[in-house]
Amino acid sequence: GKVLVTGANGYIAVWVVKTLLEHGFSVRGTVRAASKAAHLRELFKSYGDKFEVVVVEDITKDGAFDEAVKDVDAIEHTASPFHFKAVEPDELIVPAVHGTTSILKSAQKYGTSVKRVVITSSCAAVLTPSTEPRVFSEADWNEASIQEVKEKGRDAAGPAKYRASKTLAERAAWEFYDKNKGSLSWDLVVLNPPFVFGPTIHEVDVPENLNQSARDWYLNVVKGELDNDSLANIGSSYVDVRDLALAHTLALQKPDAAGERIIISAGPWKWQDFVSVAHRLDSRIPAGNTSYDPSKAVHLVQYSPEKERRLLGIKFRSLEETTKDTLEDFKARGWL
Ligand code: NDP
Repeated sequence: GKVLVTGANGYIAVWVVKTLLEHGFSVRGTVRAASKAAHLRELFKSYGDKFEVVVVEDITKDGAFDEAVKDVDAIEHTASPFHFKAVEPDELIVPAVHGTTSILKSAQKYGTSVKRVVITSSCAAVLTPSTEPRVFSEADWNEASIQEVKEKGRDAAGPAKYRASKTLAERAAWEFYDKNKGSLSWDLVVLNPPFVFGPTIHEVDVPENLNQSARDWYLNVVKGELDNDSLANIGSSYVDVRDLALAHTLALQKPDAAGERIIISAGPWKWQDFVSVAHRLDSRIPAGNTSYDPSKAVHLVQYSPEKERRLLGIKFRSLEETTKDTLEDFKARGWL
């Protein structure tokens, strides 16, 4: 079958495309500008006409995806802004929400061969920031960030603006699906990953221009930008980008995933967990907080693994493997 992948040049999406191709799917990727297609065509040239790229300039416009959804069997919608620099919340919320509703409307009208739509949401749409340890599940929704953005507007914290955009986008997807599912040829699956780390294969010139999560990892692990207290206490949960890409493939293949939102998490971490492994593998990397004791770490944000195990059953890469392969990638790029 053929799969449409939106935002195909992004950190996660390039791995999604690669994994789909490796599993025998054909892929049509969308990018915002023709200049973003060359790297992808080069990377996937061995797949011949099983890989194609189309330009969708403005994903927020109604009808933007009308052509792109024709003759595909499934859609993976990953395009959405992820950064903490927005001044107005709408810089994130408009493309996140309208990008989502726009592709769903196009799929409704013209996606006559589409059987499934998978949306890359986020644990940003699940978690509520808290000072007490908590295990979140698919039943949880991040109302707090929506509320913060409503109350504070442009003065809301950067992460709250991003998290609100993801929560509102996912909610819009479920509302559309619940309202229209009786007349659609496809069902909906939503994937909710926490922080995504691991090697990069997308086009990046300098590390400062990496996507948000890989840049954080580069600065905090390789460059040692955090103080000891932050290294031992700041963390969340994560998944390796290659495992998340596999989740996007399995989400198309597993009938039981229909109508489900699924958290895709390998487990919790503190920055020092990555730093300790990285320093052991490469002594040029600063040792960080040498008095950190992982057995005493308090993980505030954890996720229930149950639904993922039941529906997808991925064997997640370890933090060691993710760290090792990310360092290899950065070395190959000349950044280390
Ligand atoms: P990237 O920044 O690498 O990729 C984002 C993709 O979305 C790019 O293709 C980008 O296009 C496109 N995009 C961004 N803004 C717009 C816009 N306004 N209009 C059209 N396209 C746009 O990020 P990731 O790969 O990390 O993120 C991919 C998805 O995964 C997002 O939905 C993100 O929310 C989600 N996610 C990411 C996590 C992470 O830790 N990385 C964690 C959880 C979820 P362009 O290159 O042209 O800007």
